[in-house]
Amino acid sequence: MTQDKKINKSCFNFENTYTNLPESFYSEINLDPVKKPELVIFNEDLAKSLEIDADCLKSEENLEILAGNKKIEGGEYIAQAYCGHQFGHFTMLGDGRAVLIGEQKVSKPIDITKKESDKFDIQLKGSGRTPYSRGGDGRAVLGPMLREYIISEAMYNLSIPTTRSLAVLKTGEKVYREYVKQGAILTRIASSHLRFGTFEYAANYLGKEGVKVLADYAIDRHYPYVKNNENKYLSLLEEVVKAHAYLVAKWQCVGFIHGVMNTDNMTISGETIDYGPCAFMDTYNPDTVFSSIDVHGRYAYKNQPNMASWNICRFAETLLQLINDDENEAVDMAQKVLYKYSDLYYENWLHNMKCKLGIFDEEAMDKAIIEDLLSMMEKYKEDFTNTFVSLTYRKNMDRGMFLTAEFTNWYKNWQERLERQEKSLDKAYELMKNSNPVVIPRNHKVEEALKAADNGDFTVMEKLLSVLSNPYEYREDIDEYRELPQPTDLPYRTYCGT
Ligand code: AMP
Ligand code: MG
Repeated sequence: MTQDKKINKSCFNFENTYTNLPESFYSEINLDPVKKPELVIFNEDLAKSLEIDADCLKSEENLEILAGNKKIEGGEYIAQAYCGHQFGHFTMLGDGRAVLIGEQKVSKPIDITKKESDKFDIQLKGSGRTPYSRGGDGRAVLGPMLREYIISEAMYNLSIPTTRSLAVLKTGEKVYREYVKQGAILTRIASSHLRFGTFEYAANYLGKEGVKVLADYAIDRHYPYVKNNENKYLSLLEEVVKAHAYLVAKWQCVGFIHGVMNTDNMTISGETIDYGPCAFMDTYNPDTVFSSIDVHGRYAYKNQPNMASWNICRFAETLLQLINDDENEAVDMAQKVLYKYSDLYYENWLHNMKCKLGIFDEEAMDKAIIEDLLSMMEKYKEDFTNTFVSLTYRKNMDRGMFLTAEFTNWYKNWQERLERQEKSLDKAYELMKNSNPVVIPRNHKVEEALKAADNGDFTVMEKLLSVLSNPYEYREDIDEYRELPQPTDLPYRTYCGT
């Protein structure tokens, strides 16, 4: 046990389970206190859903908990071990700057991560060094933590499975990167932090028993309904295939680019995790890459569905020894499940894209209607989000692509398609309104909010968060959030931003 001071009064209802796994899955953490914690943003709605007493947690004494300065009685204070394939290369990793403080149990299952669960990890990101820190300082910077807060909350409001952000605190300490930055800690919420990389760790270092205990834990926590299936480990693989086919299709249909789809950044639950160099695409271009380190475009927009599949294969490999004692048999069985991914992905993608175009039923030409639109958007360099907003609200169509004969022809085809379906045109447009976000976290608006926050003004970020909380509401008074950035010679770049 550690020697850290503990607070008794709990604002949480912890029911910890991760420490029931063998000790090699985690390391207990001694806290690394920070100088002068100051709360800069707190997610009241999320706290309420989590049945956390917000007033209690925001008290001076308890903020010390979110700062990682004091432990709370009943907390578990561990860093989790995991490996990962980073840009294709296998490495030992682990929580190098995060600590899990406990698992919050709620009274009934809720979908605050867009995945139903009655238990959520409470994790501090940026809380200091751990045995997995390698050369790092274990700290995080204010800008990237606020960026994670803004984008993860936007994803939630777009109904995309995601980890959530409960709070960000400034630490009052300097963090040394290429420039001196303000330190910060983010409180992250997830239905669990189990990653594909956690399984890779077990398979590589702990053998069959290690993978088995982890797989049973994952099934219990995320997919308990497969527990009595004939081959529950094959079923686990199938659930993960389904969850990621669903997730990545959602990303593609809002133009979200994760940027660092390494296997350590892929969850077993199918929640988006690790908001580092991610960003939303503006001009439609399937080759779009924002991350400064993704020099070969491995995680470009167009590659995301295939990279998810590649990652799932690495996960599947860890399960083979549980699926069947005969290796060849196990590979055959796993492959049959893995082959389902592309069909499932395509079904999800087609469904989402049809909703974006107001199509309820099925016709053979639907895929062509969607692809023709996307090709035109690429050719005429149209904005992904705003194109669908224009089609939905019949606005801003007196320019660019919309004035071409090609588009007029496509539009006529599409309108005829809508008229052929049983549901009325009004219903079609209603479906489009519910499927096409009017606002997304546009890169220049996010940067503007972060710059102001870095200078101590949080109002710009609060306004942005408020606009993003209602992404499907068309309002004239938020035009500035739909506008494109001023053209520049330099493409937008994101950084892993540790
Ligand atoms: P990420 O790129 O954020 O997914 O991180 C990859 C790995 O590097 C994970 O094991 C992180 O815990 C670790 N890491 C990232 N930043 C730091 C840091 N400042 N100090 C220590 N470890 C870090
Ligand atoms: Mg990571």
